[in-house]
Amino acid sequence: MIDQAARIKALDVSVVNKIAAGEIIIAPVNALKEMMENSIDAGATNVDILVREGGIKLLQVTDNGCGINKQDLDILCERFTTSKLSSFEDLRSIQTYGFRGEALASLSHISRVSVTTKTRDSPCAWKANYVEGKLAGKIQPCAGKDGTTIQVQDLFYNMQSRLRSLRSGSEELAKIVECVGRYAIHTRGVGFSCKKFGDPQFALIVSPELEAKERIRAIYGGSIASNLIELKVPNLEEFGVTALGQVSNLNFNNKKSYSFIFFINNRLVTCEPLRRSLAQVYSTYLPKTSRPYVYLSLNIRPDLVDVNVHPTKREVRFLHDEEIINHIANSLQETLSSVDTSRAFRTTS
Ligand code: ADP
Ligand code: MG
Repeated sequence: MIDQAARIKALDVSVVNKIAAGEIIIAPVNALKEMMENSIDAGATNVDILVREGGIKLLQVTDNGCGINKQDLDILCERFTTSKLSSFEDLRSIQTYGFRGEALASLSHISRVSVTTKTRDSPCAWKANYVEGKLAGKIQPCAGKDGTTIQVQDLFYNMQSRLRSLRSGSEELAKIVECVGRYAIHTRGVGFSCKKFGDPQFALIVSPELEAKERIRAIYGGSIASNLIELKVPNLEEFGVTALGQVSNLNFNNKKSYSFIFFINNRLVTCEPLRRSLAQVYSTYLPKTSRPYVYLSLNIRPDLVDVNVHPTKREVRFLHDEEIINHIANSLQETLSSVDTSRAFRTTS
């Protein structure tokens, strides 16, 4: 017990930054997600990821996107610096993943960040290192292709308790590959690869021109892919709802539990009521031990959705959820019951 009130003082800004960073980046996979989203925002058609020791030693993301102007490298890792949003009103129509200008800043407070980047019109690439939000040393010219490579090294080097709370390298890597896989399924026109340092083989590789079903095949293999059917939900004009997905058919006899993959307005989210409702539809057809696979890209009129844009809060809420969810569940029900299962069975064998 404290018997005398202590004086209130402002926290040191470096402490504030570290606390804020630790709230956004809980584990290597959170850092990776931010970097991958930046690459997609930059218009990349290829995103290559290299992971060392579950991302703790090294997370490297290389893209062929628009690159970063040399003049911007000074403030790149400062908090709240972004090229994506300039006024609060813009938020309503924002199409990019990022807009807060916090990710790179956060990373620079809890790891060693280095950036190599080249815009199309720059004669060479530029390399810069960052510590605690600030440029460390000089910006150096170097050889490089158009695009950006960001390296995050020694994540949580100054947060020992967080380091101790992490899972093993292989478990952190598994989370990363899972996350890359989800973006790879959804992000048309973009190729992805993910490799563990020192491994001759890719943990995941998807080329840019593939459609969703082929992406799923590349990531999870043939047993899922050959049992997929397209779920084409009729539009629900009233709420601006369009939805398209790939879902497993009733021959898919699988014991492993895949979590349902939902992108709502292009953001990877969880939506427990939607998941429950779709699982319910399957449960009337499938044996109890069998688990379906569901990927669904759902668009809803933006003013109805609160895509809780905080990087770590993924559970989404939207207005008229019951009507929208029922509509999708009904469509799944109709799709599943209308496929000729015997024919589907023959084509998979
Ligand atoms: P945000 O994405 O919210 O803008 P970030 O901290 O993630 O904030 O990134 C800050 C800025 O750095 C971005 O707005 C963008 O201009 C630039 N940037 C980061 N990563 C890349 C990349 N891979 N390619 C091009 N620009 C990038
Ligand atoms: Mg970002």
